[in-house]
Amino acid sequence: MKRVLGNGLIVTMNQNREVFYGSVLIKDEVIERVIKHDPFENLKDLKNGIGEFDELIDCTGQLILPGLIQTHTHLTQTLFKGLGDDLQLMDWLQTKIWPSEAAHTAETNYISSKVGIGELLKGGTTTIVNMESVNHTESSFEALKEMGIRAISGKCMMDYNEGVPKGLIESLEVSLSESERLLKKWHQTHNGLIEYALAPRFVVSCSDELLKASVKMSRTYGVRLHTHASENKGEIAIVRRRTGMENIDYLKRIGFLGKHVILAHCIHLNDLEVQHLIDSETVIAHCPSSNMKLASGFAPVHAMLQRGAKVTLGADGSPCNNELNIFMEMRMAALIHKGNQLDSTIMNAKSVFEMATIKAAEALGKESEIGSVVEGKHADLITLRIDKLESMMVPLNAENVYAQIVYNASSRDVCHTLVNGALLVTHGQLVNVSEADLYLDAKKAIINFIKDPK
Ligand SMILES: [Zn+2]
Repeated sequence: MKRVLGNGLIVTMNQNREVFYGSVLIKDEVIERVIKHDPFENLKDLKNGIGEFDELIDCTGQLILPGLIQTHTHLTQTLFKGLGDDLQLMDWLQTKIWPSEAAHTAETNYISSKVGIGELLKGGTTTIVNMESVNHTESSFEALKEMGIRAISGKCMMDYNEGVPKGLIESLEVSLSESERLLKKWHQTHNGLIEYALAPRFVVSCSDELLKASVKMSRTYGVRLHTHASENKGEIAIVRRRTGMENIDYLKRIGFLGKHVILAHCIHLNDLEVQHLIDSETVIAHCPSSNMKLASGFAPVHAMLQRGAKVTLGADGSPCNNELNIFMEMRMAALIHKGNQLDSTIMNAKSVFEMATIKAAEALGKESEIGSVVEGKHADLITLRIDKLESMMVPLNAENVYAQIVYNASSRDVCHTLVNGALLVTHGQLVNVSEADLYLDAKKAIINFIKDPK
């Protein structure tokens, strides 16, 4: 199958960050050619210049971009959007999120995942690093497989802490054996689109033994580790009391840092902790909307980037955001640090767009596969409308196009989304799923949930 995304402005994110008018020829799962040409008035002229293909998607008036990458989500929480707004983190977790996660059935978790993935794909996100709940992770993997997004996902692990509902606490043995079972079943499946990541929730809710065993298992199977770290001052105080160490120092001590580790948030860090993250090449998932909504604080993102840290972006879960919208996260990442540091020159639009594309791909060790519009890479691509009344009117070029994307565009401007060459969103609508049916299923699930909390 050969498909052409034709006649758009291509923001390649290749090594030279080239931006030019042209077309992208996709053969099956791969970008076969990226063709530079002047914009065509008449698409018939385009057809003559490109050879044989099966389908032409007209991208006139659109940007052609690499699919966007989010390194921290919780699909299991999508249905809980609106259940707990304007609360403190521990209150929010203990009274709203954990009881809701504990009440999930396989069916409601499946629906929650599907709705979340639908929102992500419609908003141009093609790769996620996702943390599930403790139970029913299998159903989320089924949803990932069906929907076709690229995902690194895993079951949440918790074996320690007061305040966690019974239904979410497992013994060390059960947590590890279920994680291992899921890992063996799902890692590197579905054409390589699905990978497993071991996901202890955070130090506060995990025993030392669980965290150390996760490190060991990740080495045994060569899978990633994904957790939360240093999101909240209360959290790091608990870790200090328990371990006598700062959170990142503790993680370093037990071997829980490295290229294969993704830490969400990393807000409250001292200088040495930042250095540990940089030295170990640990991936940081910055979640600016969540950090603002839960009043967690300002992660030292600009300083960390300046020092060479691998900082990427994520929406976190729906209830602390309340969107899964990478355009919003890019805008927030660009704006909040300017305001916080009274410096409008930091976190420029281009560097923020890199965080959601090629830099995220590099951080995940996938730069030869995704993150830019380059021949030979997987065809994870999106197109974005720039022909609306709300769009920037000045002609776009390699300098100002990033401002259009980061400061002006919204997820609702995404027109087409392809993952691994499969067209999953066209003209803003999911291709393989009835959105109306899924909406009704989700409404029913959450209404039963509220009526009948377990
Ligand atoms: Zn999170």
